[in-house]
Amino acid sequence: MPGLIQEIGIDLGTTSVLVYVPDKGVVLREPSLVAIDAGNKKIRAVGDAAQSLLSKTPGEVIAIRPLKDGVISDYFTTEKMLRNFLLRICKNKILKPRVVICVPSSVTEVEKRAVVEAAEAAGARQALVIEEPLAAAIGAGIDITRPVGSLVVDIGGGTTDTAVISFGGIVVSNSIKTAGNSFDEAIVRYIRDKYGIAIGERTAENIKINIGCVFPRDEELSMDVLGRSLVSGLPKTVNVTSSELLSPLAECFTDIIDAVQVTLSQTPPELVSDISTSGIMLTGGGSLISGCEKLLQRETGLSVTLAEDAVACVAKGTGLALSVTEYINR
Ligand code: ADP
Ligand code: MG
Repeated sequence: MPGLIQEIGIDLGTTSVLVYVPDKGVVLREPSLVAIDAGNKKIRAVGDAAQSLLSKTPGEVIAIRPLKDGVISDYFTTEKMLRNFLLRICKNKILKPRVVICVPSSVTEVEKRAVVEAAEAAGARQALVIEEPLAAAIGAGIDITRPVGSLVVDIGGGTTDTAVISFGGIVVSNSIKTAGNSFDEAIVRYIRDKYGIAIGERTAENIKINIGCVFPRDEELSMDVLGRSLVSGLPKTVNVTSSELLSPLAECFTDIIDAVQVTLSQTPPELVSDISTSGIMLTGGGSLISGCEKLLQRETGLSVTLAEDAVACVAKGTGLALSVTEYINR
């Protein structure tokens, strides 16, 4: 039966959900967001539709983010959200897909079961979970089944996860709350302190993506930034350069360097020796900040590789994990 989707991988993130289908790639990328009717509390929209409903009719609907720190904090809404996504992907309702979902390596057995139950209740034929660092490694093209240590650093929006993987298992892992969003917050603080202007986090993210850097750029960039003057309360524009953002952003990045060093210090010497050959694999959207590889390389002395399609790595690895199912938790 051509075209029928039988196996899918889901990166159930705190901010967004990505669905990966082997041979098709990422088929869905939407915010992990549900809009609830303010009156009768019924679900009005899910994902992108929820986002636009919330911006158009803010008083009538309430936003619910059913996941917190990558864990299901609202089981009922998570199940409804998953059902909505699964139905849209698998138009055929008779043949249910097998689903693999990634979870943070810190989740408990109870939380894993909650994810599996939500997916099965949402219409999956069978649901399996895989730990996120393993998914990130598979998605980055690492053969996790080999008895060789690999160091994967995933810089997401809310957390940076560092893990050493060998023989299909996680040997050491650490998670810190400095990640992509922290860079945005550092920009908000810098613009406020330097220019006396308040900007929103969306603007800060834009600045980060367009001109931000943690290592000097080859070419100086600048952009006009519109904010609200803290003195007059009126709109005010300033020109911001990439070189002035270097120091506040690089300072923020030191937490990530420290986390890598802590992880290495907890790693058995044989695996450290493997890593000194193979280097660090970087994944996650936060790792796209300009100069990330260069700074990490300079500070750790290890070679650093930015994974191809870093943002979709975890989703891709989750979707491909079925080919190495023996490494998936049942
Ligand atoms: P999560 O898995 O936590 O949902 P992602 O891996 O999707 O997070 O990464 C989200 C983070 O990546 C956000 O902080 C976002 O601003 C950042 N990001 C995405 N693209 C870029 C880019 N081109 N440059 C810098 N940061 C980026
Ligand atoms: Mg992620």
